[in-house]
Amino acid sequence: MKNKVVIVGGGMVGAAAAVSLAKKGAEVVLIEHSPINATKVLEDNNIDIRVSAINRFSERLLDNLGAMPLLRATRVAPYHRLSAFESGRNILSFDKSEVNATHLGHIIENRLIQASLWSQFPGLPITVKTFSTPARNIQQDTEKVVIVYDEEEIVADLIIATDGGRSQVRKLAGIGVTGWQYQQHCMGILIKLEAPQQTETWQQFKATGPVALLPMHAPYANLIWYDRGDTLKRASQLTKPLLKQAIFEHFPSLPGDFDVIESAVFPLTRQHANDYVQGRVVLVGDAAHTINPLAGQGVNLGFKDVAALTEALDFEDVGHLSNLNAYQKRRRFDNALMMSTMDACYFGFSNEIRPLRLFRELALRLANSAGPIKAQVLKHAMGE
Ligand SMILES: Cc1cc2nc3c(=O)[nH]c(=O)nc-3n(C[C@H](O)[C@H](O)[C@H](O)COP(=O)(O)OP(=O)(O)OC[C@H]3O[C@@H](n4cnc5c(N)ncnc54)[C@H](O)[C@@H]3O)c2cc1C
Repeated sequence: MKNKVVIVGGGMVGAAAAVSLAKKGAEVVLIEHSPINATKVLEDNNIDIRVSAINRFSERLLDNLGAMPLLRATRVAPYHRLSAFESGRNILSFDKSEVNATHLGHIIENRLIQASLWSQFPGLPITVKTFSTPARNIQQDTEKVVIVYDEEEIVADLIIATDGGRSQVRKLAGIGVTGWQYQQHCMGILIKLEAPQQTETWQQFKATGPVALLPMHAPYANLIWYDRGDTLKRASQLTKPLLKQAIFEHFPSLPGDFDVIESAVFPLTRQHANDYVQGRVVLVGDAAHTINPLAGQGVNLGFKDVAALTEALDFEDVGHLSNLNAYQKRRRFDNALMMSTMDACYFGFSNEIRPLRLFRELALRLANSAGPIKAQVLKHAMGE
């Protein structure tokens, strides 16, 4: 049996990969430099400013992995409606009733998603390891792959890199990336609302970049502000009352009064690995692709990678190259397509050049008109 898998990176995607592969019989070693106490995270009341819009595909995966029931018992916010505005005018709306669903997706704190997956580890063949220094080297031949740390050398049949956008494993495997840094940055602002649970997530397009509201489990919500890096740097240095004032000036009116809890600024990167597979090393999640978060797709794509890899592998011989190549073939084009769609939105909505404006109005009108095109766009947004 050749089923030993080393997974480097135990974030949302790495933890999902560990549970998914261990459930299929793989012997998993998960290496994470910041391990968590899952029970504590699921029970505490520390609200994470990093949240993800989890689509229906990801929800099903999390259900299959046993994580979703735990999440439903903590702080999740199902959303029923998704809207886009421009200059205060509604240009696009999707409602759960249009697809006969109870919800379109959930907004969930990242650390809760990670913890709900980590809490599945006991009882599965998963060993968690932490090393004080990064891996020094990866060596491989046709039979095995070895990851070398100062403290230990681990021999495996397959290494999965889920160590995020700056993947060290990707570098050690010699896989290059293509990409760039967007001009816009993004500020997440955690607020506490006076209003009851919100079920609509909306985005307002502006020439400087969109602003959005992601309703979290009441009374919290996340405001997203895309703008130039220097503008957001200045905003991040404001006191909470002054940031609240800036929100009044820059965002559409919010449902009732609110308090600013915390904010953080993220650079926006587009990055795609030139290959997902190098012998017995395979890239999954942000290690393979980092996408503009405009439509909240990053971790959803990562979860699709996990499902595709699990399906592609032969658990008698997990490092079989043709299966790894089948995974790459299935996912690389899909991820590239989503990245290009986000780029079209980013460039199309962040300027006022007249032909572009006309084109985007036409595209949105088409997407918004009732009928098969709208249903198709909605299904895609839900990850179906
Ligand atoms: C502002 C913003 C908003 C977003 N909103 C959404 C959204 O609404 N919906 C959505 O789907 N996506 C969203 N995303 C994208 C999403 O956050 C990422 O796609 C997701 O976090 C990627 O998960 P990952 O597990 O692949 O990588 P990461 O989250 O980067 O996790 C990597 C893990 O590996 C560990 N690690 C790193 N290096 C090493 C090493 N050398 N050794 C051991 N461990 C290591 C880290 O500690 C971490 O636990 C957003 C991103 C941003 C920036």
